[in-house]
Formats: sequence, C-alpha cells, structure tokens
Amino acid sequence: MSGNPALDLAGTVRSRGDEPVDLLATPADLERWVAECDGLPDGVTADFAAFESALSLREAVYRLALDRVLDRPFDPGSLEIVNGTAAGPVPTVELADAGLRMSGGILAVLSQLARSGIAVLADPRARLKECGRANCARIYLDRSRGARRTWCGMDECGNRVKAAAYRARRRASALAESREPGEAT
Ligand SMILES: [Zn+2]
Repeated sequence: MSGNPALDLAGTVRSRGDEPVDLLATPADLERWVAECDGLPDGVTADFAAFESALSLREAVYRLALDRVLDRPFDPGSLEIVNGTAAGPVPTVELADAGLRMSGGILAVLSQLARSGIAVLADPRARLKECGRANCARIYLDRSRGARRTWCGMDECGNRVKAAAYRARRRASALAESREPGEAT
C-alpha cells in the first residue's frame, strides 16, 4: 500500500496523527505481517528479541521517512538503527521455474526491510508523501503519473475523506433549507 516494504512496516502503526493503533502487538503479529508482505522470505518465526528489533527498525524508518517528507536532515539515532540492521545477514534468492524464491530467518527479513528503506530514502526522485487524511499520517511512495496521489490508499483514506465531505455538504444544505422560510421574509 505504501509502495515499499519498509514504509509498509512503518504503516503498521495506523492513525499516527491521532490515536495510534499498533497492528504489531506480539511476535506472532510480526510473523503474520512478514508472511503477507511481498518480497520477503516466507515461514519466518520471530522471538521476542527479534520482535523488539523489528519495532525499533519500524520507528527508525518512520522517523527517517518523516525527515524526508519535511525536508530536514536525518535523525542520527534512526540512521544508526537502519544502517546497523541493513548490515545483518541477507536473504538467499534462488531462481526456479516458479520464479524467485527467497529464504532466510527473521534477521534476514529485518535486514532486507532496512535495505529497501535505505533504497527509497536515498533516492532523490522518490516522492514520499504523508497521507492527506490528517489523522492517518501514513507515509507512502507516490508513483502515480504527475505525482497527484493524495491518499495512502483509496479504501483506507480517500473514500473516507470523500464520504465525510459528502455528509458535510448534505448537512450544510439541509441546514440551509431549514433556515430558508425565516430568511425569505
Ligand atoms: Zn491514509
């Protein structure tokens, strides 16, 4: 949804701008998230130490992405976490008739995530944006033509904002109609 696995990881905290909801509450949540994420090894298990590392990587990636969005220097502590994680073991890739097969443990997953974060954060042409729905605050990679994308996702945010605007217009016009008789005289 964010257009990059590391940004997707950062997006596992929903509604950062308002009341954050953490989708990764336990190591099992992390295992499930990794299994669903494209471009990462399958069948990975996470112990508590790896889970903690994943959470600190997540917050570091989010901080650096926000630094990019706000066009300010990278936070040194977050750089250290992301660079240190990227220096870990990398997944093995194999070619087969079925396509690419990637394997590795949780540390390889984390280093792969850190590397994909570095690739996007180092790319001067990558258009990183914060979602236009104020409470969401999710950072995504805008790959659309002309960089016109406004929301992290249409289902999550775009349609919600549009529906809210529609309801507000309806309320306003209902209010205007109820006032009309009085105003006409
Ligand atoms: Zn959003």
